[in-house]
Amino acid sequence: MGTKKPTILVSACLLGEPCRYDGQSKPCASIIALSEWATLVPVCPESDGGLPTPRIPSERQGDRVRNRLGADVTLEYCKGAKLAQETAKAQGCICAILKEKSPSCGTHFIYDGTFRGKVIPGLGVTAELLQSAGFLVFSEDEIDDAWLSTYLPTAKKSK
Ligand code: SF4
Repeated sequence: MGTKKPTILVSACLLGEPCRYDGQSKPCASIIALSEWATLVPVCPESDGGLPTPRIPSERQGDRVRNRLGADVTLEYCKGAKLAQETAKAQGCICAILKEKSPSCGTHFIYDGTFRGKVIPGLGVTAELLQSAGFLVFSEDEIDDAWLSTYLPTAKKSK
C-alpha cells in the first residue's frame, strides 16, 4: 500500500486544456510533471462559471469584472471562484497553482482594467477567494526546486 498523494488544485489551461479566452491552452511542463507526486485537480473558473470558450477577454475593475465590450461578468467570475473553492475543499487540496495575470487565476499580478496590456499587482477573483478561505495560492512561475522541497518533499528525494 503506497502513501496517498497530496492533492493540488491547478488552472486547467496550465495542464493543456484549451479553455482560455482565445480557445488556446498554456501547458506548463513543470506543472504537468507534478502529477508524478501529486494528484492534480484541474479547474477553469471562467468556464465553470458559465462563460463560453472562446470568450471576450475580461479584466478586473475594482470589485467588478467587465469584458472588453463593457459587459459586467462579475457574476460568472464569482460563481466560478465559488465552485473552485468548493472543489479545493472537497478534494482536500494542500494548495492551488494558478495561471498568473488572469482576472480569475492571477496570484500576484493582473491587468489593470483598461485593456491596454498594463499589469499591476493584484489577485484574480478565484485566487482571492481561495486565499481568503485559507488556501495557499502559487503561480506557475513559483514552482521550482525550493517549492518542491517545501511542499512536495518526496518529489525532491526521488529526483
Ligand atoms: Fe486558465 Fe484560469 Fe483562465 Fe481558466 S480562468 S483559462 S484556468 S487562467
